[in-house]
Amino acid sequence: MRDADITVRVSATADPAAVRSARLGLLLRSLRDGGPRSRGRLAEETGLTRSVATGLVDELVELGLVSCEDAGRRGAGRPGVQVRLVGGAVCGVGAEINVDHLAVLAVDLSGSVIAEARRGIDGRNLPPEIVLDEVADLVADALAEARTAGATVTGITVGVAGLVDATTELVTIAPNLGWRDIDVVAEVRRRLAVTAGSVGPVPPVPPVRVANEATLAATAELEPSDADRADMIVLYGEVGLGGAVVSAGRVVRGRHGWAGEIGHLRVDPRGRLCGCGRTGCWETAVGLRPLLDAATDPDDPVRDPALTLEERLATLVDRARLADGRTLAALDEVGAWLGAGAAVLVNTLNPGTVVLSGYFAVLGEWLLPALETRLAADVLAPHAGGTRVAISTFGPTAAVRGGALVSLEPLLSDPTALAELHGGTR
Ligand SMILES: [Zn+2]
Repeated sequence: MRDADITVRVSATADPAAVRSARLGLLLRSLRDGGPRSRGRLAEETGLTRSVATGLVDELVELGLVSCEDAGRRGAGRPGVQVRLVGGAVCGVGAEINVDHLAVLAVDLSGSVIAEARRGIDGRNLPPEIVLDEVADLVADALAEARTAGATVTGITVGVAGLVDATTELVTIAPNLGWRDIDVVAEVRRRLAVTAGSVGPVPPVPPVRVANEATLAATAELEPSDADRADMIVLYGEVGLGGAVVSAGRVVRGRHGWAGEIGHLRVDPRGRLCGCGRTGCWETAVGLRPLLDAATDPDDPVRDPALTLEERLATLVDRARLADGRTLAALDEVGAWLGAGAAVLVNTLNPGTVVLSGYFAVLGEWLLPALETRLAADVLAPHAGGTRVAISTFGPTAAVRGGALVSLEPLLSDPTALAELHGGTR
């Protein structure tokens, strides 16, 4: 997780083992965020002495997490031994349960993809048990793929399009799925334990967590080197609208973890009925469903629930590129509604960046003109408050990528925990 709230504090009086773990994690984070470097530079940039850094790098080499390679002589003739992360040694798994699609992504410490899969579903009309069976099935395949590739899985984080209670970890309410108080962690873990046992010795299932899918998408968008992203609003377009507010580099979670439900801001009191039971929520104007309603007829093949989100979006992109009038008008309308809602948030929070993520990212070039026009008109501060609108490079995979990054966090806090994980996934 590229999260500025993670700091490593090492006190002279702390337990030596804890100090060592924290320092090992500090070096791993530094290599992940800054790329390969010499031991000397690594020591300098992490504030460790050269001898301490060298010893710790040796430990990371022994754990199989980093390698030291001679990159040849450089400039004035100093040997260029570079310390770098070993690609594919460990990975985190992110999964997503959304209304019309499931997805899974496994990424290693450097962010490279180890396994990836997605599946179209009709989540609104399927019982939770079936949806959980399907997502556990996708995750089991990703675990097997990671194992085959020789990667140790550090954890699984499942993103759900709904409110997740920070204390109980229950999915309190997922209005578009019709879920209430579902224990996703226990359900997924139980299914994975059964799957693992059916193919030989039962390896322990890596730790499973659950989070709101837009919170995970925001985690993927955090970029410590970009000051404009320290205060950021992430709009995650799916069937509905997920959102997350980032303040001073941290995702705002609120008292119970339910913050960021901006999809249910009422933007049009005379608008459509929302999955939450209210009318005129922002997501009823900008979710994928209203876009499809405006851009297509009910029997249009793009609405087939068996299609993956990517297939659906590819069709819409093709139509927009061919300048199909109905598609462009629908995108323009969604863009304007996006701007109207975003203006409320920009007036309230003055973010550096508004990130268009999820499906918005794929269709961003057609949404932006109307969005920016509306933003400029509705924000009181000059030049839309200086807020930049950015299109996510991850798009619909932002939530699963964020989930994978969150799943790698325990390893970054304590790389020595890797030994315990080896038995389960190799
Ligand atoms: Zn609503």
